[in-house]
Amino acid sequence: MPTFPVAARLAPFGTSVFAEMTALAVKHNAVNLAQGFPDFNGPIEIREAAIAALRSESPLHNQYARMFGVPDLNNALADAWTARALPAIDPNTCITVTTGCTEAIPAVMLGLLNPGDEIILFEPFYDSYRACVSMADAVPRIVRLHPPDLSRDPSGQFWFDPAELKAAFTSRTRAILVNTPHNPTGKVFTRAELNLIADLCKQHDAIAITDEVYEHLVYEANLPHVSLAGLPGMFERTVTMSSLGKTFSLTGWKIGWVIAPPDLTKGVRAAHQFLTFGAATPLQHAAAAAIRSGRTHIDPLVAQFRSNRAFLGDALRNLGFGVHSPAGSYFIMADHSRFGFTSDRAFCEHLASEVGVAAIPPSAFYEEPSRAKSLVRFAFCKKRETLEAAVQRLAKLKPSAAR
Ligand code: GLN
Repeated sequence: MPTFPVAARLAPFGTSVFAEMTALAVKHNAVNLAQGFPDFNGPIEIREAAIAALRSESPLHNQYARMFGVPDLNNALADAWTARALPAIDPNTCITVTTGCTEAIPAVMLGLLNPGDEIILFEPFYDSYRACVSMADAVPRIVRLHPPDLSRDPSGQFWFDPAELKAAFTSRTRAILVNTPHNPTGKVFTRAELNLIADLCKQHDAIAITDEVYEHLVYEANLPHVSLAGLPGMFERTVTMSSLGKTFSLTGWKIGWVIAPPDLTKGVRAAHQFLTFGAATPLQHAAAAAIRSGRTHIDPLVAQFRSNRAFLGDALRNLGFGVHSPAGSYFIMADHSRFGFTSDRAFCEHLASEVGVAAIPPSAFYEEPSRAKSLVRFAFCKKRETLEAAVQRLAKLKPSAAR
């Protein structure tokens, strides 16, 4: 039998850690706090809107959508955007609906980066960024986010060294990717940090690409979500990506979008038209209803997740984990050193097979995996009873010597 290898540009990335860990959770019947998806349904009103679109006698509701999005969704997104006091946008030339933010990422990179261009990523970085940089033949420049150190950053968040960020900008820098709120650390970039990033982008004529899929999942009054596109002089050089999945607990719908000025949008669409052309039409109609529902579904979800964050954070701390409390997202990064494992993978494999809880080994988010060896990521976008079952099982963990 001949064998045909994975193309060299993707071979180094193996299988996505999310597919791998969800399979491990199923195999061991583990409580799944690995891949970030809710174990409850999104709002019935929004699912009913999808059913209505599917049942619609208008054939247009079930045929290809307009390449850059059904008009109702583009309009709803533009209204929600301007309601946040961001610069007014034309829904037809500034918004592109994509198949989740997961498609937006390669559409933006393939459409706007030339081979050899440098793009700055903060490490840890969501795993697909790094693979998409390779698909675009671009060059990653890594700036580290360090674990919380109260003497450096009193907010108790992951932090970066401004000198390291400045040094990462070169004459070849085309873009910087900022994910706020940040997966996996839960960091919400402060206005001061974003101002520094904005100044550097303007100084080096770079594009800012933001991934804001957790934009509504923020828990600290003094750390609100700030969009780079809203900072002075930034709209014209910023590409904002977001999606429906996290905000409305509908991760399987895969409806995302990119908001950018017309010239940057042209680049994004140049790629999007050949990647998927369009996202699922009936779900786009329902997404418009979701966006127009304002805070109705968002506020209770944030309250639920804030309470989950406290519950799981306290429980992990009591069990002996070092807990880095997130200001946003639905993940907790914890330090598992007390349990004596030599790597994050060894710890997560033990956790799934012997303890019955699945989590994510964060080394998949690091250029240098050893920097994540004592870390583990838990998702708390779950029913309370799921978190309780996980905590009960985690009590089997015993602090021990290195193994
Ligand atoms: N964003 C999700 C997470 O971090 C995973 C999404 C996916 O599997 N593509 O868990």
